[in-house]
Amino acid sequence: MTVMKQMLEHDHEQIVFCNDPESGLKAIIAIHDTTLGPALGGLRIWNYATEEEAFNDVLRLSRGMTYKAAVAGLNLGGGKAVIIGDAKKIKSEALFRVFGRFIEGLNGRYITAEDVNTSVKDIEYIMQETKYVTGIPVRYGGSGDPSPFTARGVYWSMRACCKEMYGTDSLNGKKVAIKGLGHVGSYLAQFCYEDGAELIVSDIYEDKVNPMVEKYNATVMSVDDVLSADVDIVAPCALGGGINQKTIPTIKAKIICGAANNQLGDENIDGPALKERGILYAPDYVVNAGGLINVYNELKPHGYNPESSRDQVRHIYDVMLQIIALSKEKNISTHRAANQIAEDRIASIRNINTIKTTGKGTLENR
Ligand code: NAD
Repeated sequence: MTVMKQMLEHDHEQIVFCNDPESGLKAIIAIHDTTLGPALGGLRIWNYATEEEAFNDVLRLSRGMTYKAAVAGLNLGGGKAVIIGDAKKIKSEALFRVFGRFIEGLNGRYITAEDVNTSVKDIEYIMQETKYVTGIPVRYGGSGDPSPFTARGVYWSMRACCKEMYGTDSLNGKKVAIKGLGHVGSYLAQFCYEDGAELIVSDIYEDKVNPMVEKYNATVMSVDDVLSADVDIVAPCALGGGINQKTIPTIKAKIICGAANNQLGDENIDGPALKERGILYAPDYVVNAGGLINVYNELKPHGYNPESSRDQVRHIYDVMLQIIALSKEKNISTHRAANQIAEDRIASIRNINTIKTTGKGTLENR
């Protein structure tokens, strides 16, 4: 593995390898791009088979965060951290506090948050050593669970997609199939129901499905069939997407719009294939940016305000319309169009830094 070669390949700015034998910490922090602001991205703990696998994952995830923040219009760069090891065995107060000290040493270039296999308790340990943490519990003045904001972003994306495909942005009378009724999926069901949608729901656990039937009169479908349900919109909100060459021919919905990360098996093949079939795919990292927008708001010096977070999440509607327009204009997939918008924004902001000033604007602090 040649570290510099891989960093150069996708323009990573900085990689930090952290080692502390006493606590057992083996971590990698990847800072992809800080043109727009400090690199923000969660801390993942994973039992990677090899160090190379961990390295590749952190490079891929940090780069993804750069695009997500850029397209959402946030002044944030992309970063991510991974701790290598079995989360059931390695977690300890010392491990997280040491990790916090490594973050503090970066002096704000990287801001961490929860991710796969990290919890509020772990974040509390990290907070003892550094202020560069976000997504913190409400009792510490933080924003708490980001899921309602993520779900709200999915809902606004759906409305933008409906505007394009049906000429109206209301979900009233639309059939929406939601796969995965966890933190995001269950809030999404509520928002869709309140807007008059008819719900089809699916989850591997019955106790997730039953409340949706009781509260929203939803129809239940098996997890194997739900992606090909005869509906207007499918919303993948489980773990991993499953939209690939095998499933695309079976999809009947005109719109795919859900929170799950990495929905497309291969974005270069499946994005164009969906376009070819006339299915509007709302790019996952655009749709699910509500949680990131919310934790970004937590960083504001005057404190967290949920109302202003909700306002900013609503902006995803406009971003989706912009992506759809570019996809049509350039005849490219929506995923490619979203990437283009992110890259253009970063390039244009990189240029403004050539004009030197001593001051700083005030909008960000309001
Ligand atoms: P979650 O773990 O709370 O919910 C996932 C749900 O999917 C669970 O109810 C689970 O039982 C169900 N599930 C798992 N496999 C399934 C299958 N094969 N078929 C049907 N259901 C299945 O997770 P979440 O926080 O709701 O996140 C959902 C997705 O959105 C994830 O991919 C996550 O990475 C992504 N996401 C979440 C947020 C957030 O704010 N929570 C932000 C960005 C992206």
